[in-house]
Amino acid sequence: MTGLLLAKAHFPVTALGPGVRAGIWTQGCTLHCHGCLSRDTWDADPAKEVPVEAVLGWLASLPEPLHGVTISGGEPFQQPTALLALVRGIRAWRDGRPRETMPLDILVYSGYVYSRLSRSAESREILEACDAVIAGPYVDRLNPAGGHTGRGSLLWRGSANQRVVPLSPLGAERYGPAAGNDTQEAGPRMQVSVDEGPEGRRVYYIGIPRRGDMEHLSETLDRAGVRAGDVSWRP
Ligand code: SF4
Repeated sequence: MTGLLLAKAHFPVTALGPGVRAGIWTQGCTLHCHGCLSRDTWDADPAKEVPVEAVLGWLASLPEPLHGVTISGGEPFQQPTALLALVRGIRAWRDGRPRETMPLDILVYSGYVYSRLSRSAESREILEACDAVIAGPYVDRLNPAGGHTGRGSLLWRGSANQRVVPLSPLGAERYGPAAGNDTQEAGPRMQVSVDEGPEGRRVYYIGIPRRGDMEHLSETLDRAGVRAGDVSWRP
């Protein structure tokens, strides 16, 4: 049994890759990018460990349509053994799905640049099982401004330095256009989910806001009398 430190799993996800997707966020990241909006995923908390098989079981229970799986973090590549077991497990399950179902792609995010990932044999094995990777650290100043003034946004990427790299024919078909574009009007950038957990109700924002969007949202909530409490995008 391989254990994965898991921050969250959610379905449906529509803001991180094409179509209707399952989202898996790993727990633990030592990269600490300035302006990271997911600081709650930094701590490699062993209490968050779940068997990879349980994540695969959850995926298999999801309804159609399911066009893809997005793995983000945290930093997924800081758990290489579990990540490899996960992506290989997804591949095996995908290959066993009925032929008439929509092909399912695997997209993985990483804060490491692609050249570094492709130098490591361990990371290459993981990438070989994926259809696309969006690679590179989040650089706040390279994220288009949002709030009142924002116009453009980056499709599926947090900042312009990040590279969309297709890794398979299916990846080329679905991610090839995004790989060549810098700034464009994107599809849905953000979605909201409300989960009831042992610590009470938590609101999750899924997707990639533009620079300043979360501050703008906090101010709007404050004005409406809603206190955001602890948030993942501030120290
Ligand atoms: S943006 Fe991603 S890679 Fe960077 S610190 Fe946050 S979780 Fe880690």
